[in-house]
Amino acid sequence: MPSPRRRTITALGIEGTAHTAGVGIARGSESERFEILANKSDMLRPPKGGIHPREAAEHHAEIFPDLLAGALNEAKLSARDLDVVCFSQGPGLGPCLRTAATTARAFAAAADLPLVGVNHCVAHLEVGRVLTDATDPLLLYVSGGNTQIIAYAAGRYRVFGETLDIGLGNMLDKFGLEAGMTFPAGPKIEELARSGSKLLPLPYSVKGMDLAFSGILTAALAHRSAGEKLEDLCFSLQETCFAMLCETTERALAHACKDEVVIGGGVVQNKRLQEMVTIMCRQRGAQFFVPPRPLLPDNGAMIAVAGALEFAASGPIPFEQSGVRQRYRTDQVAVTWRA
Ligand code: AMP
Ligand code: MG
Repeated sequence: MPSPRRRTITALGIEGTAHTAGVGIARGSESERFEILANKSDMLRPPKGGIHPREAAEHHAEIFPDLLAGALNEAKLSARDLDVVCFSQGPGLGPCLRTAATTARAFAAAADLPLVGVNHCVAHLEVGRVLTDATDPLLLYVSGGNTQIIAYAAGRYRVFGETLDIGLGNMLDKFGLEAGMTFPAGPKIEELARSGSKLLPLPYSVKGMDLAFSGILTAALAHRSAGEKLEDLCFSLQETCFAMLCETTERALAHACKDEVVIGGGVVQNKRLQEMVTIMCRQRGAQFFVPPRPLLPDNGAMIAVAGALEFAASGPIPFEQSGVRQRYRTDQVAVTWRA
């Protein structure tokens, strides 16, 4: 009889921590590569301004039924073929988390399936680990709300460095909104940065292993008021912030004794960031793995993968423990499936 961790699990994953509602289906186990059978998502894109948590939750509530039907259809499965329903339990925006959790509970109850609550940050790491050839990587996770450097040590995913104020994506979005762009501003900033060349001084803020971005935002806006070109500002923002990420990632590799890096989060779709991490890894003799692009930003498939691993190792959670955890820390998760 195979050990529970080797059991092949077909999991449905529901993501809803912030701006993106996602439903994915994955099949696999700790000892065999996961197959992504479906990955449907829809990101709230307000015509102007940033993300309002209640508006995002309303968007998710409206779109989840279509995403669920679409994912099952894409995977050519029915609820009967699933082993477990997994959902993003935290961290994230309360109204969004509650909408995802309610959807998961309702679906699981209707289909008589067990439930697993997944830590969103751990899901970014796990999908990168099990869908690439990495075995024990360090994760550089850079999204809208989160910026963390995470690695496995003694039964937990430990945070080796993180932002002390806002996530880098959030900072880029705030800058973009001030400069007249719509959400998400990251891709537009990447495009404009390609035509920039003047490196403007911004406060490079690495504090020990941690990072800070809000002072950079203030300084960048001051440069803009002083009439600096937007292209040069985008270029300078990227060069400065990405150098900060590379410095702390390299130090974390040494500290945690790892020699593999995977990336996750919306911001790591940026080609200049990937290029800088590639160079850092080459110079250090570390290997760099980039998961398939649809698995980088928030998505349901990563929740399905992490939930399947957890379910195989520790079983489901009782309904009473399926409440959302807005401040769910990466290092609060007992990583039973890797022990
Ligand atoms: P996530 O929260 O992981 O879904 O990622 C969303 C964040 O990624 C938003 O803040 C976007 O502005 C940012 N983002 C998306 N694409 C890029 C890009 N090419 N360069 C920089 N940031 C990006
Ligand atoms: Mg994320």
